[in-house]
Amino acid sequence: MTYIIAEPCIDVKDTACVDVCPVDCIHPTKSETEEFERENKLYIDPEECIDCGACEPVCPVEAIFEEAAVPDKWKHFIQIDANWFRGRKG
Ligand code: SF4
Ligand code: SF4
Repeated sequence: MTYIIAEPCIDVKDTACVDVCPVDCIHPTKSETEEFERENKLYIDPEECIDCGACEPVCPVEAIFEEAAVPDKWKHFIQIDANWFRGRKG
């Protein structure tokens, strides 16, 4: 299991979630400047996420869901987050 960042994050990207993640699996961070400017949302690495749930309540736009709880209309973000890291790791 993992947590997922869905549509509400798009163009918000305030990074509150990054600050609370104990395993630093949410990217890009603000210090990853090039990627941060290029991407319109943040992503959670499904291979690194430990399912602690700390990120979910701090998101001001309720963009974060446990994988099993992602609303139907945003289910495609499960694949979007996973694919982003796959591409990033090469
Ligand atoms: S659930 Fe925990 S480990 Fe996973 S992204 Fe959120 S804060 Fe990080
Ligand atoms: S806290 Fe929510 S809106 Fe802010 S970057 Fe994280 S997922 Fe996006």
